[in-house]
Amino acid sequence: MNLTNGAKSLVLRSSPYTHTGFRSDHKHARLTEELQIIELVPPPITSFPNGIYHTKFKDEKLTILDDIASAIATGECNKKVGDAMEERGASSVHFILVVNGLPSSREEAAAERFFKALLYPGDHFVPHMLEAMRSYAMPRIARLSGQVAESIEQFLQDDLIQDIADDAWGPHVQEVPGFQAFRNRFPELEIASVPEALTILLERLRERTSEVHQSADNPSFTTHDAMFVNGLLVLAHHLSKAPIFNRLIRRSTRAVIVLFVGGLRYKLAMLGRYHACLERLRTLAKRTEMKITYEWCTDDVAGIVNDRPVVMHRSALEVIKAAEDRATRIAISVSDSTFGKICSQYKPTLTVSTHPTIRLILKLGSTAQTRLVGCSGGVCYACSEWISRYNDAHPGAMWTAGPSLQEVDSTWALTHRFPFEEDVYQSIKEAKEISLIDWLDPSPMDY
Ligand SMILES: [Zn+2]
Repeated sequence: MNLTNGAKSLVLRSSPYTHTGFRSDHKHARLTEELQIIELVPPPITSFPNGIYHTKFKDEKLTILDDIASAIATGECNKKVGDAMEERGASSVHFILVVNGLPSSREEAAAERFFKALLYPGDHFVPHMLEAMRSYAMPRIARLSGQVAESIEQFLQDDLIQDIADDAWGPHVQEVPGFQAFRNRFPELEIASVPEALTILLERLRERTSEVHQSADNPSFTTHDAMFVNGLLVLAHHLSKAPIFNRLIRRSTRAVIVLFVGGLRYKLAMLGRYHACLERLRTLAKRTEMKITYEWCTDDVAGIVNDRPVVMHRSALEVIKAAEDRATRIAISVSDSTFGKICSQYKPTLTVSTHPTIRLILKLGSTAQTRLVGCSGGVCYACSEWISRYNDAHPGAMWTAGPSLQEVDSTWALTHRFPFEEDVYQSIKEAKEISLIDWLDPSPMDY
């Protein structure tokens, strides 16, 4: 570490962004600063990640990888799980698991319980697997429930169903997945039209998800009524498949609606995945004749970072105003007080770690036969940019991850191993500029 930096930090001690100490890393700071700003301004709406349009993939293996990553995730500290699969012979598979940072004992216990349940399910596969998952995954289920409850509330408040209420609807069984079963549980569905039935079910799911979300702090939380939670997962799964969402996405001329409806469906599918994965897991267990093994990925590879503090060098306002051309002009033209909330939420120090999918790719390399990575929660924006550049830079590498909303996560760590990381930084900087323009000077077509 050079001494000039040290000397400078002594002179400029009055600013919180310059007393960086010896761990400072200019490259990382400028990247984390940009990520923080994108996280704090409303999401850009000029491009849509694939999670908006698709909630399931054509690739069966990728689906099962995402299933397993989601099923194991405990949801603690917002950590995501990633996994890759090695096929060992015709009927044997081995999973490599990873989280951002080192797995905690709770995470290790969760994986152990999950695979034990999968391999020794007894007579009742479905309740057995659900019980195993509920035993460690309630923090994640509660968090997803909170997101679903909030999105449904907005959806019903904006009365988006009303916009297409006069459409020609198909029969209930087609428009309302799971209708036959729900009709017995919710008698009010009996005389409801399709738009009414969808509204009733969304409202029921909103009530239940909101209850689970609120009970997250309850001490008796882990023993939450099994029937209640299982029922909620089934409802979320069926509603995520309702054709109404596609209809709204296809029809809408407003980008903000496409983004919102796609996001709601994605969140429903994430929560419903606990139910949706069961048949696929059962098939996997049968197909492999129970020869399923796993290990936690080691982090003995150059570039992997665990819980490293990054000290910002610039203030939020400096990062906002360091945009280029149009974004700068707009940012300078509005009053600084517009950014008050962002400035107050902007953190002077953040802890970063290598995200799970990147960890797996670093470990397995570009020549691995495995080319698919699963991730609970989908890959973040920076991971997605990094993976596509890694593939470009390594002939033969074709790493693919499932659909995601590519949300921005400022805990993302550089590996400092590849020149293309400079391009990742550039694209993050551009994304910040787009976010600023979308927010401060929206085009009338978008809203
Ligand atoms: Zn990521």
